[in-house]
Amino acid sequence: MNQPVQLAVVGSIGLDTIETQNARKVDILGGSVSYACAAASFFTPTGMVGVVGTDFPESHVDVYRGFGIDLRGLQTAEGKTFRWSGVYEKDMNNRRTLSTDLNVFGSFMPVLPEEYAQAPFLFLANISPELQLHVLAQAKSVKFVAADTMDLWINIAPHPLMEVISAVDMLTLNESEARLITGEGNLVKAAKKILEWGPEFVAIKKGEHGAMLFSKSGVFVVPAYPLELVHDPTGAGDTFAGGFMGALSEAGEVNDAAIRKAMVYGSVVASFGVEEFSLGRLQILSRSEIEYRFDDFRRLTHLG
Ligand code: AMP
Repeated sequence: MNQPVQLAVVGSIGLDTIETQNARKVDILGGSVSYACAAASFFTPTGMVGVVGTDFPESHVDVYRGFGIDLRGLQTAEGKTFRWSGVYEKDMNNRRTLSTDLNVFGSFMPVLPEEYAQAPFLFLANISPELQLHVLAQAKSVKFVAADTMDLWINIAPHPLMEVISAVDMLTLNESEARLITGEGNLVKAAKKILEWGPEFVAIKKGEHGAMLFSKSGVFVVPAYPLELVHDPTGAGDTFAGGFMGALSEAGEVNDAAIRKAMVYGSVVASFGVEEFSLGRLQILSRSEIEYRFDDFRRLTHLG
């Protein structure tokens, strides 16, 4: 907690209501920055930039504290916390958004505290591209910036989103978003097109099929850990990206080997995250469990 923040993360904080075939959970802790910071905190001192309303339960702030997340960038604004609700179909892959209430998130102006502005790693998790640009402008000593996005921004804010993409080192997005933003059906072609727009790396998340990392020097594929029981895939992409950025920050340098390892760590932490609703599984996760599953990934993909 007292160590200098190495990774700053900005994104949404939500009270989520989630329905699956087996359960319905109301107002549980969610949002892109919650998942990403929790995942990153296993690897590196992580600082959160986000906003909550006055109705945000103190017990949720305690959850953040439990991960050792630096909260100097957490704002409390008069009004209600952002709320989002969604329902999953039986196979847990397809999700429908039922409602989105922006509340205090609608007038959020993220501020990077001075201590985070010096952080070498920055993750712009899913928020509007205008806000991502606003944060990017405040990052003074950043060495590596990744940004995530979603179909909503591709559809309603393509121009600021293109500005974000051209300014970051890495873009993460899921496969349908990669197709949407490029107009290419083939993911390899889609990734090549995004690389031409500026970033050095593009990570395409494929849910239960893992993730692919594209760069000018080639492609690296990481599987998702084969799980028998998935309770809640919400935030898996944010958990993956948070774990990835945390592990990269821990490695301290950005090279091909560090990036590949970070991809596997991202996939490992995401595989734990989906075992429970909200941050439930991550709250009881240990680094040794992460390492054990990391080794399992080696076994899963070993050829000889
Ligand atoms: P994912 O499963 O990666 O799509 O992330 C789910 C999280 O994103 C949930 O916890 C929501 O609170 C949050 N979320 C949903 N809609 C938005 C939005 N429009 N902007 C930012 N965050 C959102």
